[in-house]
Amino acid sequence: MKDLIILGSTGSIGTQALEVAKKLNINITGLAAGKNYKLLEKQAREFKPKSVAMFDTEAANKLKIALADTDIAVFGGKNGVNQVATGEGDTVLCSIVGIAGLESTLMAIDAGKDIALANKETLVTGGDLVKKRIKEKNVKLLPVDSEHSAIFQSLQGVPENSLNKILLTASGGPFFGKKAEDLKNVTVADALNHPNWSMGNKITIDSATLMNKGLEVIEAVHLFDVSPNQIEILVHKQSILHSAVELSDGAVIAQLGTPDMRLPIQYAFTYPDRGIKFEQLSLSQIGSLTFEKPDFDTFKCLPACIEAINRGGLSPAMVNGANEEAVSLFLNEKIRFLQIGELVEQTLQFAPDKKDFTLEDVYNADALARETVRKLVKG
Ligand code: NDP
Repeated sequence: MKDLIILGSTGSIGTQALEVAKKLNINITGLAAGKNYKLLEKQAREFKPKSVAMFDTEAANKLKIALADTDIAVFGGKNGVNQVATGEGDTVLCSIVGIAGLESTLMAIDAGKDIALANKETLVTGGDLVKKRIKEKNVKLLPVDSEHSAIFQSLQGVPENSLNKILLTASGGPFFGKKAEDLKNVTVADALNHPNWSMGNKITIDSATLMNKGLEVIEAVHLFDVSPNQIEILVHKQSILHSAVELSDGAVIAQLGTPDMRLPIQYAFTYPDRGIKFEQLSLSQIGSLTFEKPDFDTFKCLPACIEAINRGGLSPAMVNGANEEAVSLFLNEKIRFLQIGELVEQTLQFAPDKKDFTLEDVYNADALARETVRKLVKG
């Protein structure tokens, strides 16, 4: 990689990616984010990209004024983000949160960029569209999500057609072992209190509901061309074994490491080479690793996602849209924690039956899912 563009640079992944890029002396040519213009200004002054963008146009105007003494081009709105995504640079790290990241990822692919993908909602909602364009443009799609990076790393050197199954690990989030009865009154603060990972709010709630694992099953189906029943989910509370693959002879190959996103981010940047060491893993200090089955009855988002990918078509976009809306309502204390799973499960039943779809169909399904959630909540 010579030049890197980061979409979502002010977020949890984006800021860690800048730290990795600095350590590896990677040139940053573009930065884009939502509305945190103060942090984007700081990043722009330090990394001196050619262009920056804020999705929020008011924030973009403020950034333009703040960076008036530099020669950095400042863009605003959705088109501004897309302009940065397609600007000078050979690789784009897609780390915008939610379906909001889909369009800029597709545009970056069309512009011939290699993609380092953190934004799982992109593959969940538009997987077939993304894969088709990746093939047409002959660009790389490198996973950043720690589990998918672990699977990708475990598959290096493995002959084609030797993959039997994927062992997808889950931390279980803050509520593993609890039943619906125990989760009736959990607060936003309880749900944001992840035991192992420090991440953005949306993915932290997704971890607590296990929606995150459901999204990751769909992501893995697209990335590794497996069927959903070739994926076994294992709750591994220590978050040390980041996922594994079982091969045709029964051998299991895994990638282990401390729970530190800098490692999978770096691998997407240095692939196929290895980068620098951030943290040392000491297995003797950890002592034991445990693996348990997830609770599909209490955490309803997980079976809903599996049903969605089995149905195919626009069903994954529907569960994703329902979840984005429900998580936003929960974070604003408008619904209870357990309602997230119920709403995702119910909204899936409204999925349009359409196997071949366009980008417009995906956005329509997303809008339908959000509207369905709002109607269900109103009652
Ligand atoms: P954060 O909430 O921390 O960051 C989200 C980023 O997206 C911010 O930079 C935000 O900008 C930007 N953003 C939001 N909406 C828009 C928009 N419409 N246009 C442009 N930029 C926008 O999220 P995370 O970093 O935690 O997660 C990012 C993605 O990576 C998610 O899809 C998540 O599932 C995935 N992921 C995250 C992991 C983690 O450890 N955090 C691990 C694996 C995957 P601003 O803040 O300025 O509004």
